[in-house]
Amino acid sequence: MKSVIKLLYMDNKFCIRKKLVYLLSFLFILVVLVVAIGNSNKEKKPLSSRAHENKPSVPQLISASIISGNPLKQPYYDPDKSTRCETTKRLIEVYAGGISPDKCYKNVEENVKANLTEIKIFGRTVLVHNKAEPAFKAVADELAALSIDSDHIKNDGAYLFRCNSNASSGSTDRCSSDCLLSLHSFGIAIDINSGHDCNGCTDYTMPMEIVDIFEKYGFRWGGRYKDVFNQKIDPMHFEYMYDLCKE
Ligand SMILES: [Zn+2]
Repeated sequence: MKSVIKLLYMDNKFCIRKKLVYLLSFLFILVVLVVAIGNSNKEKKPLSSRAHENKPSVPQLISASIISGNPLKQPYYDPDKSTRCETTKRLIEVYAGGISPDKCYKNVEENVKANLTEIKIFGRTVLVHNKAEPAFKAVADELAALSIDSDHIKNDGAYLFRCNSNASSGSTDRCSSDCLLSLHSFGIAIDINSGHDCNGCTDYTMPMEIVDIFEKYGFRWGGRYKDVFNQKIDPMHFEYMYDLCKE
């Protein structure tokens, strides 16, 4: 009898051990499952929001490529390449739907006007082309965060349909065959600080921090016209060239 009780006791002890092992194993698996589910829930943000968080904007991508390649090495600062990519034909192709212009560019003006959007830069709201708006917006955001002595820095306007007085032998008559359209006509150029940085000035006061920001996002600065193209400078003038000249 004693030996049976001993056997039963041992068996019972064995069962308790076995149960304990099972119980601990079960608890372990439960903890692993809870942790795994917790982690998977953390990652379950909507696909669109994840893409939004990670996807750089077009101006950010442009800026990254320009910075790594030096703004002055862009095709629009190359005298040969730039003459090919800033023609009226190319401007109309990119910014006026490629239409065939009538004699006084009336249809080009209408096409551009239908594609303008407002943007605020240095306290003034101006019109720029929809296609260039992301670049202008990126510049505007950085300029707004810039700490400079800006007493005389003012925005003198962007869109204005007119001939380019520098390149049109002084002609401002848009019906003349001498008229070459200004980049302002397409809403891709802006003038800043005309009082101190005029078209044709021999010197300028434009802070280089402002120039750096524009150039970072694919703009060409008129203050470099003399050095790069041997033309008179236009230091108030910034023109968005990246899309016209990208290779
Ligand atoms: Zn200008």
